[in-house]
Amino acid sequence: MNPENSADQGKSEGKSGSIELVAPLSGPVVPLAAVPDPVFSEGMFGDGIGIDPLAGKLLSPCDGTVMHLARTGHAVTLETAEGAQVLVHIGIDTVELNGKGFSPKVEQGAKVRRGDLLIDFDLDVVACEAPSLVSVIAVANSDAFEVIQRAGAGRVEAGQTPLLVLRARDGAAQTVGAAGSANLVMDEVRRSVTLTHAGGLHARPAARAREAVRGIEARVEVRFGERKAAIESVVGLLALGAGEGATIELVGMGREAQKAVDAVANELLREAPGEAHEAPARALSPAPAAAPVTAATAPAATNAASGTLTGVCAAPGVAVGKLVRWDDAEIAPAELASGPSAAESRLLDKAVAAVDAELDTSVRAASQRGAIGEAGIFQMHRVLLEDPTLIDAARDLISLGKSAGFAWRESIRAQIAVLGKVDDPLLAERAADLRDLEKRVLRALALTSGAANTPAARQLPDEAVLAADEFTPSDLATLDRKRVTALVMARGGATSHAAIIARQAGIPAIVALGDSLHKIAEGTEVVVDAGAGRLVHAPSAQDIERARAEKQRLAGVREANRLTSQQAAATRDGHAIEVAANIATLDDARTAVENGADAVGLLRTELMFIHRQAAPTIEEHRQSYQAIAQALQGRPAIIRTLDVGADKEVDYLTLPPEPNPALGLRGIRLAQVRPDLLDDQLRGLLAVEPLSAIRILLPMVTDAGELIRLRERIDLFAKEAGRTGRVEVGVMIEVPSAALLADQLARHADFLSVGTNDLTQYTLAMDRCQPDLAAQADGLHPAVLRLIAVAVEGASKHGKWVGVCGALAGDPLAVPLLVGLGITELSVDPVSVPSIKARVRNLNYTQCRERVFDLLALESAQAVRAASRAHWPLD
Ligand code: PEP
Ligand code: MG
Repeated sequence: MNPENSADQGKSEGKSGSIELVAPLSGPVVPLAAVPDPVFSEGMFGDGIGIDPLAGKLLSPCDGTVMHLARTGHAVTLETAEGAQVLVHIGIDTVELNGKGFSPKVEQGAKVRRGDLLIDFDLDVVACEAPSLVSVIAVANSDAFEVIQRAGAGRVEAGQTPLLVLRARDGAAQTVGAAGSANLVMDEVRRSVTLTHAGGLHARPAARAREAVRGIEARVEVRFGERKAAIESVVGLLALGAGEGATIELVGMGREAQKAVDAVANELLREAPGEAHEAPARALSPAPAAAPVTAATAPAATNAASGTLTGVCAAPGVAVGKLVRWDDAEIAPAELASGPSAAESRLLDKAVAAVDAELDTSVRAASQRGAIGEAGIFQMHRVLLEDPTLIDAARDLISLGKSAGFAWRESIRAQIAVLGKVDDPLLAERAADLRDLEKRVLRALALTSGAANTPAARQLPDEAVLAADEFTPSDLATLDRKRVTALVMARGGATSHAAIIARQAGIPAIVALGDSLHKIAEGTEVVVDAGAGRLVHAPSAQDIERARAEKQRLAGVREANRLTSQQAAATRDGHAIEVAANIATLDDARTAVENGADAVGLLRTELMFIHRQAAPTIEEHRQSYQAIAQALQGRPAIIRTLDVGADKEVDYLTLPPEPNPALGLRGIRLAQVRPDLLDDQLRGLLAVEPLSAIRILLPMVTDAGELIRLRERIDLFAKEAGRTGRVEVGVMIEVPSAALLADQLARHADFLSVGTNDLTQYTLAMDRCQPDLAAQADGLHPAVLRLIAVAVEGASKHGKWVGVCGALAGDPLAVPLLVGLGITELSVDPVSVPSIKARVRNLNYTQCRERVFDLLALESAQAVRAASRAHWPLD
């Protein structure tokens, strides 16, 4: 032994005031700094020493109590009578072996003597499967105990060679009481139970059984075949895989063992109402929704058996790539903790408590709505959240220097892997629940530690097919578009803003794929045929080959269209149609020009300022629009005033909750509560040079009175600013009243622009973001088309032109109808400009006019689509 402190020289080992640890393993000594894991070598876990073991037996280095035995059997922490906590950790990263090769010979709480066998391990297995066999003996509470002597280089013998001498830092060794010894005198009680529940030992009976022993002084273990699990661990109980009819054994230990075993048995034998057929739980999200409708009129359906999910096209195109869960990718916790383990542990506690509170609120809300099933699922999540298997495994990792987020994620994933080994579809659903919890806690951790969303946390593979419940516009604003080849969503609608952004970016996207999307494993190779709304998640080599060929063909067509995109578009019989672009950023404006847009038909200014924490100032408005006007090089820009509310949220504005946001303070109505926001924007717009570069578009106008008042305000601001030119002002036709009163609006407006996304929503009374209605909320519905016809007719009475800036303008099947109805401007996503121009050039205007009114007489959107396809086939 090498003395570390001259003052200690001469002290004999084991003398009062010092604690001697003998080698727990046989083999050469490795200095702590040379242990191949920074967690140990940098002393993050505490002072200590390494041994490269040559035999698979871990003996106790001292007398003490087993404070903690890793669930995976690879590490043990002992507490000496003086209070020193000694960790012995076998190998490096051995938690990953998940117990393989380790056979603990003691239980947590056991009293052990120096030299007792604690863990038997298979040296070969660990050597082959772990990065290193080097094991560590460290003082976990190094703040209270210091190492005063340690063995020098050379071989040590387990149970014999002195290894370390410790001393309490304040000189006064603590004495721990006999805590934990209460249960040491253990009665053991066994009882067999045959499970009669449909589904066997599933989550709810498991959770109830666990509840039944709360407060009883005993431990209960459930055994099934070779497997066993503590009653406290619902996850462990599920992993037993004990199905209906299985006979399990309950083993109780402790003073009240009999009482505990009986309580569990009674619970398991009790048939709780509604549990006879425990339904496979949905993957959970805060706002669960049913799977997409499967009616013939709505294509959204799930066909997991054939390896295909069906949803609704949000942006056309074909892609092949690897599935990446965006919700997970959002937060990639650093592996190593930045601070001490204790602080990291507290962070985890805080996050778990926050999620628990969140779940509690969800349980209450669901119960109040009478959604008992939903409340039960959230309640079950609360039970899982406090599962000792999960928490202990996370704490093990934290104690090894891992960050709380990393530890939590690994712990959850280890359990998902365990559940994955049990052949039971219900357990696959539980895995979805665990994934949901993983996400929630990581988010809570990111919020409390401020570690969310760093750019480094979003590293994506090439050809990433991003999957999420639903992307928000802000998710998409930060995407690495070079790597993302497609977007797939469980929910969402084809006209949601996420869909609009995907189209603008030219990224194929599917919405409303349903909860089955969450079951596809991360990294799975998938084929996305967005046009057909199909996600193939078990593609054959042929599927992949075909998709790649189709992708290439589409690229060829795109290239041909691009070559003529800078020329104006007119029908074969010479009727000019302006093809403009919908944009949200300066970059989009450049893309619009590159793609041959004749103008900007819609600048969604609310998206331009979406990430800001404060509303833009007048000058910021001016600068933004001026930059866009310049980028457009003389092409005019229709700039829509802020359209915030409903599906469009911005960071800087928290609107009071409304029962029906889509029918609330949206568009120009926002000015009723925040007139300053609109005034600042109008002033900024009126400062753009030259004024003729821009036109102002007002969203959500319902009648002429609103338009007149706003026109007066615009004129007043223009006068104040000394502007002499007259700025053109148009209105969105996106609510039925505006379409019906178009003749009145057109008297005061310079132009009309039909917002088919909202016009469809409000005409058909179908939420544009409701996935179950995504397929039915179709702008080619005859009712929507008739309103467009009324609007065009009303405008023509005053010689005003009408454009369409909703998604319908970019739908190749809608283009002939809109042209036939007299629409003269189609404003589409920048990347769609070339193909829409190509489509216009293939049409005959006279023929479109002749046919369109026949199509308006049809009875459904499907019929209109079919007829359009028949008259004007697609490429
Ligand atoms: C529309 O409603 O069709 C439209 C263009 O506006 P937004 O999609 O931004 O609501
Ligand atoms: Mg709208």
